[in-house]
Amino acid sequence: MRKPKVVVLGAGYGGLMTVTRLQKLVGVNEAEIVLVNKNDYHYETTWLHEASAGTLHHDRVRYDIRDVIDRNKVEFIQATVEDIHPSENKVILDSGEIEYDYLVVALGAEPETFGIQGLKEHAFSISNVNSARQIREHIEYQFATYNTEEEKKDERLTIVVGGAGFTGIEFLGELVNRVPELCREYDIDFEKVRIVCVEAAPMVLPGFDPELVKYATARLESKGVEFRIGTAIKEVTADGIIVAKGEDEVEEIKAGTVVWAAGVRGNSIIEKAGFENMRARVKVNPDLRAPGYDNVFIIGDCSLIINEEINRPYPPTAQIAMQQGEVCARNLAALIRGKEELETFKPDIKGTVCSLGEDDAIGIVFGKKLMGTKAAFMKKVVDNRALYMIGGTSLVFKKGKFNFF
Ligand code: FAD
Repeated sequence: MRKPKVVVLGAGYGGLMTVTRLQKLVGVNEAEIVLVNKNDYHYETTWLHEASAGTLHHDRVRYDIRDVIDRNKVEFIQATVEDIHPSENKVILDSGEIEYDYLVVALGAEPETFGIQGLKEHAFSISNVNSARQIREHIEYQFATYNTEEEKKDERLTIVVGGAGFTGIEFLGELVNRVPELCREYDIDFEKVRIVCVEAAPMVLPGFDPELVKYATARLESKGVEFRIGTAIKEVTADGIIVAKGEDEVEEIKAGTVVWAAGVRGNSIIEKAGFENMRARVKVNPDLRAPGYDNVFIIGDCSLIINEEINRPYPPTAQIAMQQGEVCARNLAALIRGKEELETFKPDIKGTVCSLGEDDAIGIVFGKKLMGTKAAFMKKVVDNRALYMIGGTSLVFKKGKFNFF
């Protein structure tokens, strides 16, 4: 009898969790499992702010996919997904086509530009290893170039971070530790450096506990961050940003580096494939399947799950993507064995920790507020746990964070 073919697109938190769980749940003779990913490595998206600032080398945030999959059960294809034809059970790759009986879409997120002019062309975003490496190199280039020019351009030393949400704040936390090192390395007066965080919303870290937000803001300000809250970026240019000032006025902030960290949408493949979506995210059924397609699961940042308590979508997180991966694997195993009853997905939010550099953080874990070194310790526990969940103890020893004190 022909084995059902399961194709998983994306080897991020959701996709790898699905595959590593599914390979344990089904036997070699029960299903053919194929994993497709752009690169031959997985990267810890939640660590990219560190690689972008240059506080952690990009090789530390990635590992070989083949190290965590069971190669007897899973075929890995390194390819870029170009389209999905769900009505024909077919995926179009840059290297050919692939058919499936069951599909899991776990292609992650893309930056949301909100139609801001010049953003795509002139701002960097913390999206993957390539972009993180580019941001680190670009900032370093600006610092290295400063003293080579006879007419000094101070704006080379200005870094604008768009967005004071989770990613923006975590990136700022790394930057304030990295900038003094760069100043020493390139003989630059620290006073000349500006780190400006521009946020359109009226607050930093919306939704976070106000006491923790106050702590985070004060810590970052004490290390040199200027917050421009309630300020919308109108345009990004080759020279910096234009922000709205009052009703009709605008102001230019000249900057050598602009990093956009103010929101994500799902992968554009979702829109191209024709799934009903909201900003490239599919409001999936309780069993994580796409409405109208009984053999397609959509998880991670490409999915949209409503928090019934507040009737608003849960923010996309690695925590949710990994939990979805576990449920998705169990539901796939059930379908492969001919069962019709599938498990319902319900997020189990254990907490959130936002780092402010490697030695400081804020967070709420199991309902308890944490800040400072205790929260920073917890952040490393969370980071190591994600490695453990996918690759077990050996991966934790290889890639884990043990600089606890
Ligand atoms: P990802 O983990 O992003 O994986 C997507 C995969 O798909 C990648 O391997 C990518 O290469 C691949 N891919 C994409 N397009 C294609 C294509 N066309 N063809 C082939 N392969 C493709 N969440 C938390 O819970 N806690 C945190 O502390 C936290 N911190 C964060 C910090 C930063 C700087 C950022 C950017 C995000 C953070 N998040 C955090 C959010 C979290 O990283 C995401 O929600 C999570 O990565 C989503 O998982 P995913 O599996 O959907 O996608």
